[in-house]
Amino acid sequence: MLIIGSHVGFNKNDQLLGSLKEALSYGANTFMFYTGAPQNTVRGKIEDGLTLQAMEIMKDKGIDYSKVIVHAPYIINLANGDVDKFSFSVRFLREEVDRCAMLGIKWMVLHPGSHVGLGVDSGIDNIIRGLNEVLEDSPVTILLETMAGKGTEIGRNFDEVKRIIDGVENKERIGVCLDTCHLHDAGYDVSKFGELLDEFDEKIGLSRIKCIHVNDSKNECGSHKDRHENIGFGNIGFDNLINIIYNKRLEDIPKILETPYVSEKPPYKEEIEMIRNKKFDEDLKKKISSLE
Ligand code: FE
Ligand code: FE
Ligand code: ZN
Repeated sequence: MLIIGSHVGFNKNDQLLGSLKEALSYGANTFMFYTGAPQNTVRGKIEDGLTLQAMEIMKDKGIDYSKVIVHAPYIINLANGDVDKFSFSVRFLREEVDRCAMLGIKWMVLHPGSHVGLGVDSGIDNIIRGLNEVLEDSPVTILLETMAGKGTEIGRNFDEVKRIIDGVENKERIGVCLDTCHLHDAGYDVSKFGELLDEFDEKIGLSRIKCIHVNDSKNECGSHKDRHENIGFGNIGFDNLINIIYNKRLEDIPKILETPYVSEKPPYKEEIEMIRNKKFDEDLKKKISSLE
């Protein structure tokens, strides 16, 4: 069965219940959220009542909560070895892991980090050190996201991801999230997705993949830009994305859209419908713009 959703909001009043309702309004059967604003450390208290209500509704609707994803805040940068910044990142990541545990979430996507001029080797060493601190007794599995290679981002190819995983002691708690826009921008030809998966399987193992971010890209393959585009409107294209979404080897893996809003409106209901129909609608953006 296709497990598809998008990133959704999480606010301090409705929390998981609000996130779920947003996802349902898109016709989704999974979702991904940040437990607070991704760019700051302000976090409210988790209300168990709201979590339990959301869990009840999910049971009713047949949504598998064990596939719902949290995205770690992007102010976390484990690759930066500066003592203060590194200890901040480790502490904040650990707090996020604990918030996920309170919510009953199993998976948290993390950008491996940017080495900010220290070089890839030091960056990777720092990431490994940070992950080993956080994951030692973690109930949550961290999914390293494959990155576009913008600036000094680490995780722009499978070899870098593999080096990190090799250094992590608690192998039970480390996995991978593939982002189609990032793979394409990093220089992978996602039109040959079978070959790409073969390479991944050989280097890392397909069983590590626990989430797919499905985005088209505004830029050329290898551009290292990381600008997401709506499904079918970018340089990856609709057919290639459909092939990825329906790939048999990734059947039970949740697919999450992080495509841009269209005229300040979320495109996810229309995009999910289009994906389910497997038919590109070139007027989709126009239709979304004209919604009130
Ligand atoms: Fe991400
Ligand atoms: Fe992503
Ligand atoms: Zn991105």
